[in-house]
Amino acid sequence: MRLGAEAREDERLVGRLETDVKRAIRTIPDYPKKGIPFKDLTTLWRNGKLTRRVMDAMEKRWKGARLDKVVGIEARGFIVGAPLADRLGAGFVPARKVGKLPGSKVSMNYELEYGRQGLEIHTDSISKGDRVLVVDDLLATGGTSRAAGTLVERLGGKVVGFAFVAELRSLKGRRKLSGYEIYSLAKYD
Ligand code: AMP
Repeated sequence: MRLGAEAREDERLVGRLETDVKRAIRTIPDYPKKGIPFKDLTTLWRNGKLTRRVMDAMEKRWKGARLDKVVGIEARGFIVGAPLADRLGAGFVPARKVGKLPGSKVSMNYELEYGRQGLEIHTDSISKGDRVLVVDDLLATGGTSRAAGTLVERLGGKVVGFAFVAELRSLKGRRKLSGYEIYSLAKYD
C-alpha cells in the first residue's frame, strides 16, 4: 500500500518536472533552417532551481547503473554530461566535432536532421569493458547519439544507455537506439 502511494507520488513529481521543463524550453521556428522547430534549452539552463531538479532526476535514473564513463556530445551534451558524470562518480568523455580533439581518435560520419556531421572521441578515453552512458540535450533522429554509441563500442566500451533532457518523438530517434536503455525527460509529439 505504502509502496503504491510512494510510486504514485514519484510519478506525480516526474509529471510536474516534465511540465516545468517543457514550459522553460523555448521553441524557435525555422532555425537553423526553414521547417526546423529548434528547441532552445538555454532558457532552461538559466534557471538554477529547475536545472538542479533536472540533474536530480537524471542522477536518480542512472545511479544504480555502475557507470565508468559518461560521454557528452558536443556542445550541448556537455552541459548535462559533465555534471551528471560528477554526480555519478564517473569519468567524463567529450564526443567532439571533427578536428577538435588533439590526440589519437576514432571518428564517424552520420546524417543530421539538418545536414551531415562527424563525431570523434579520443582512443584512450574508453577502456575495454567500461560501462558508458551517452548523454545529449535532445534526441531528434538519433543519428548523433547512435554515432557516439558506435564509437564507444568500437573502443570496447559497453553502452549502458542513452540519456536526454528532451525528445522529439515524431523523428523516431528511438528506432536507431533500439535494444538500449533510453531516458528522456521532456517528450514532444
Ligand atoms: P539527431 O542526431 O537528429 O538526434 O540530433 C540530435 C542533435 O542535434 C542534438 O545534439 C541536438 O542538440 C541537435 N538537434 C537536432 N534537432 C534539434 C532541434 N529541433 N532542436 C534542438 N536541437 C536539435
